[in-house]
Amino acid sequence: MTDTTARDTHLRGILLARRGEVQEDVQRRIRDGRTDRPIDVRDEMEHCDGDICKDVEFALLQMKAETLRRVEEALGQLDAGTYGRCFQCGVEISETRLLALPFAVRCKTCEERREQVHAQTQRRAEQHSSFLSLSDMG
Ligand SMILES: [Zn+2]
Repeated sequence: MTDTTARDTHLRGILLARRGEVQEDVQRRIRDGRTDRPIDVRDEMEHCDGDICKDVEFALLQMKAETLRRVEEALGQLDAGTYGRCFQCGVEISETRLLALPFAVRCKTCEERREQVHAQTQRRAEQHSSFLSLSDMG
């Protein structure tokens, strides 16, 4: 028997922490401009200046905003009781997987199956295109 309530509480805690983190980071960036950067982005930021740097900063903020949007969405799903369920087979996505990928929409099995199908489709497309080029050559 799985304790859904404990799981939800735990996942909600993680999402809220994530939201707090991103919000704080965004606010700090807006407040301090480009002076105070976390270590993880410093490397890529060091090499840019002027407009490029602003673009990077803007892209970064957009990314953060997108993360916030997804966290909000996930929290809404959590309230509705649909968060952490595979949208393909409806099975509960493992907590370990959600910890690594908080916005995962598929369980591991479906994700792997999807990747396999994707690889097959690609292979088929490649075969198809090589067939076409062969027939082109007459
Ligand atoms: Zn699934």
